[in-house]
Amino acid sequence: MIVMEHFLSGAAKLGIELNTQQLNQFQVYYHKLIEYNQRINLTSITDYKEVQLKHFLDSLTVVLAFKQTGLNGNLSIIDIGSGAGFPGLPLKIAFPNVKLVLLEATRKKADFLTNLIHTLNLDYVESLTGRAEEIAHQSKYRQRFFIVLSRAVATLPTLAELTLPFSTIGGRTIIQKKGDIADELKDSAKAIELLGGSQPEIRKIIIPELDDNLYLVTIDKLFPTPAKYPRRPGIPIKRPIV
Ligand code: SAH
Repeated sequence: MIVMEHFLSGAAKLGIELNTQQLNQFQVYYHKLIEYNQRINLTSITDYKEVQLKHFLDSLTVVLAFKQTGLNGNLSIIDIGSGAGFPGLPLKIAFPNVKLVLLEATRKKADFLTNLIHTLNLDYVESLTGRAEEIAHQSKYRQRFFIVLSRAVATLPTLAELTLPFSTIGGRTIIQKKGDIADELKDSAKAIELLGGSQPEIRKIIIPELDDNLYLVTIDKLFPTPAKYPRRPGIPIKRPIV
């Protein structure tokens, strides 16, 4: 018997209903995560319930910032610095029709993702090893995504440079943040404008199953990103645009 009641009730509050196949996929995801985590450092959260809430449910909250409810079309999504797949992969399980790229700099983690995608039998999802600073200059990926996601990768001024170049004009970048973000927000205004983004919109996530200090920072892409951005690997984190 699969017991995922808190995850299920949280997902329902996001308007997401999961069928048996999808719940099975989350089960497999959990077990693979724990298995690989003994060899490579994927997460410090390993408790069954905690993974369901702090990884799976937390990932699904990004739907609160989508332009349209539900993800029935074949929207293209990229997850920057995906690590063990968050938030991209839970979203792909919940909305199997989306096209997803998981971008991850560490090969071992990307290999975990490749293996997991295969085991879950998912289509239209690519695990890509590389750095955002480089991949964002390839025409196959530059300004090609309707939704750009990122969780727990860097501070906002840096993240703006690592994410916005991937977004199409009219697309949306959704960044998951925790805690006090006032200073980061202030510091990111210049970078976001320079990179072609709108003024950010902030949503607080109010789901009783999750912590109460979680936010979604949403930036719409208004203008093309100037060709020189992102700068060389490491520069966006060392010298953020401020
Ligand atoms: N998003 C996941 C992982 C966060 S840890 C989660 O929320 O659980 C940050 C991850 O981003 C690490 O796996 C790191 O390898 C990756 N990363 C950091 N900088 C990156 C860059 N410039 N390009 C691609 N991946 C990057």
